[in-house]
Amino acid sequence: MTWTPAAPALSGIALSDFDRRHLWHPYTSMTTPLPTRTVVDASGVRLRFDDGTEVVDAMSSWWSAVHGYRHPVLDSAVRAQVDAMAHVMFGGLTHSPAVELARRLIALSPAGLERVFFADSGSVSVEVAIKMALQAQRGAGRPERTRLLTVRGGYHGDTFGAMSVCDPVGGMHAMFVQTLPKQLFAPRPPAGLDADIAAWTEAVTALVEQHADEIAAIIVEPVLQGAGGMHIYPPACLRALRQLADEHSVLLILDEIATGFGRTGVMFAAEHAHVAPDIMCLGKALTGGYLSLAAVVVSAGVAATISGSESGVLMHGPTFMANPLACAVACASIDLLLDGGWPSKVEAINDQLRSGLGSLRQHSGVADVRTLGAVGVVQLERVVDVGRASAAAVRNGVWLRPFRDLIYTMPPYVCTDAEVAAICAAMAAVVDGECG
Ligand SMILES: *Cc1c(COP(=O)(O)O)cnc(C)c1O
Repeated sequence: MTWTPAAPALSGIALSDFDRRHLWHPYTSMTTPLPTRTVVDASGVRLRFDDGTEVVDAMSSWWSAVHGYRHPVLDSAVRAQVDAMAHVMFGGLTHSPAVELARRLIALSPAGLERVFFADSGSVSVEVAIKMALQAQRGAGRPERTRLLTVRGGYHGDTFGAMSVCDPVGGMHAMFVQTLPKQLFAPRPPAGLDADIAAWTEAVTALVEQHADEIAAIIVEPVLQGAGGMHIYPPACLRALRQLADEHSVLLILDEIATGFGRTGVMFAAEHAHVAPDIMCLGKALTGGYLSLAAVVVSAGVAATISGSESGVLMHGPTFMANPLACAVACASIDLLLDGGWPSKVEAINDQLRSGLGSLRQHSGVADVRTLGAVGVVQLERVVDVGRASAAAVRNGVWLRPFRDLIYTMPPYVCTDAEVAAICAAMAAVVDGECG
């Protein structure tokens, strides 16, 4: 039996009118929204709009579709899992997709991380990581340690716990200040992989020492701060944080939701620093961009301490925890990544972004150009007009979604040389349009 829709679907103008009137888009006004484009299908690294236009997706659907769209291997993994079961509750039940995914994540994760919690989105995984840290401190007999320390410029998600550790100025603190827990903010780490970190280390050390009795955990995005400003900082900062955490019995949470699965040139960005966190959050590229899934991977010691807290259990359990479809496609995505020689692909993309974007440094109105792995960023001296910029990119055959003063790409790893060149050309066109 097949499903036939009860009523004909809307298309064209009717579809976009309904969308504009009734549907919220991310960070968008319901009354005066920015225009949207209707995608009818996506294949390889291309999105196709309803007017027939095709664009190379330079955003990987918010950094997740690392293998591109309609990948035959990923499609077949989803289909096979649908034929077995789409979902069952995880309370009292388990299944092979969850176990197989946990095996893969443990094998890939930094040494010592071997207990896995599956959540349904990145933000929720950050909530779970925070809850784990608070419960672990209770289990260790330090219930007064309830605050988090982070650095300025970060982004960890849109839920309340996650929001509380986002950048206090660029984030959403002002609006929710009455509701948000008050966390501790160290300065943003200096820019560049090899920057001098002495002054920064001194400042963060002073803050930790002053508040050690209140701090449950330090949480940061390793090496690359994503939505908080595409800021690249020295791996040495992570070593300093690891040392401070150890000295003061504070846990280290690394949010690898954006950086995980090879994006920065290593499997997890913590590897740039040869540092292992106590708790690691994964999301975005985990399922190759197919379905919403996140994971929190934890050391056995932290897991044991959590169980030593008064309840004896970790107090979390979402309805769609460890969804079998999502776990199955995540397993397939990881296998595909490991089979496909991703390090050389990411390195080749980096070479091309470096040479393709480097000349924009001389462009008037450009403040900075930087790359790391398969990430290319052009920072302007002023805020980008998102509507105008994405229209210019589409005219150049590329999908870009700039934010603040940043025009950036995180392309699928399967982009050809020609496609990466097209992305660089479109970014240059956007820069011309914004700074002309
Ligand atoms: C995207 C992101 C999140 C939030 O993940 P969602 O799946 O959107 O909830 C958290 N942390 C980082 C570093 C991210 O890039």
